[in-house]
Amino acid sequence: MRVLRRGDAGPEVAEIRSMLAALDLLPNGDASDGNGFFDAAVEHAVRAFQQRRGLITDGIVGPATYRALRGSSYHLGSRPLAYLVSSPVHGDDVFALQERLTELGYDAGRPDGGFGPQTEGALRNFQRDYGLVVDGICGPSTVRALRQLSPRARGGRPVFLREQEQVRRAGPRLRGKRIVIDPGHGGADSGVVVAGLREADIAWDLARRLEGRMKATGMEALISRGPTHSPSETDRARFANDAGADLFLSLHNDGNRSPYAQGVASFHFGTGNGTTSTVGELLAGYIQRELAARTGMLDCRTHPKTWEIFTRTRCPAVRVEIGYLTNPDDRRRLSDPAFRDVVAEGILVAVKRLYLLGENDQPTGTFTFADVLAHELAKAE
Ligand SMILES: [Zn+2]
Repeated sequence: MRVLRRGDAGPEVAEIRSMLAALDLLPNGDASDGNGFFDAAVEHAVRAFQQRRGLITDGIVGPATYRALRGSSYHLGSRPLAYLVSSPVHGDDVFALQERLTELGYDAGRPDGGFGPQTEGALRNFQRDYGLVVDGICGPSTVRALRQLSPRARGGRPVFLREQEQVRRAGPRLRGKRIVIDPGHGGADSGVVVAGLREADIAWDLARRLEGRMKATGMEALISRGPTHSPSETDRARFANDAGADLFLSLHNDGNRSPYAQGVASFHFGTGNGTTSTVGELLAGYIQRELAARTGMLDCRTHPKTWEIFTRTRCPAVRVEIGYLTNPDDRRRLSDPAFRDVVAEGILVAVKRLYLLGENDQPTGTFTFADVLAHELAKAE
């Protein structure tokens, strides 16, 4: 294209006047008079536009300014967007798409209004996460999904909002839900060992107690390892992913050089600066509350972590560190089978609370296994 500046005239200038008028940078009637003069008012409007767009503010319409002006007539949804290698698409709609994807936690690169391979990659990830057709094309259904998310997207990444939506859609019943219980360590890896008590064995025993209760409610409980195996964190995550697990629960005990360190703590995926698995955090919270209330152990709270087990599992995952084997009080509790039953019941109730989505006002610590079973039966009718 011809570079246009003050003093030029012709149909190209008329087009620029019309685009500037559409942006309210020139008086509206001005565009239609067709005189096509690049006068001082046009130059002023071009400068204002350039400034707004972070372009070089020279009042001259070169290729970059022209492309930005053309692109400004598009808004998200006004045309389908895709990555065209031969002639990349530019426009405000692309910019809006990039901003939206970035906001939602997808790496679309620096928003620049040009639909490149990185935008396509981010768009495909978004489509995959939301169960849309993964074609890398921003068409009507993708735009609808992007719009629908906007009011709820505040305060959380939609990948995780989708988790929440799945929990809501799954309904309050436990029956049919698939849980992977992951007893920590195992085999040659004993975990923390104090006075003959091995973390791997306690975790295995807790897993079996929890498995029994879950199966009684109709859940599909799977254990991530055999009694004497120690898969890697990656293998445990793969097991859960292959099983299509709804939730992943990792059971551990803690240890510390100080015998005073004690209590129960729950962990979920989170970066610590706002990005968090909302369902993971919710479930960790329920588990933490139930266990602290039922067991009398010190409440060491919930914590966001980016551990491998959380980044590799595709479903919401929680890891619970149930007591310190290095603490005499916690150790005494953990060696008691009745106490392990209390822990298993507390975790089961926490999972039930997750699916009830807060629709149960029974105080923390008072909801029993029998209540859960009764609730399941009542829902089945
Ligand atoms: Zn451990």
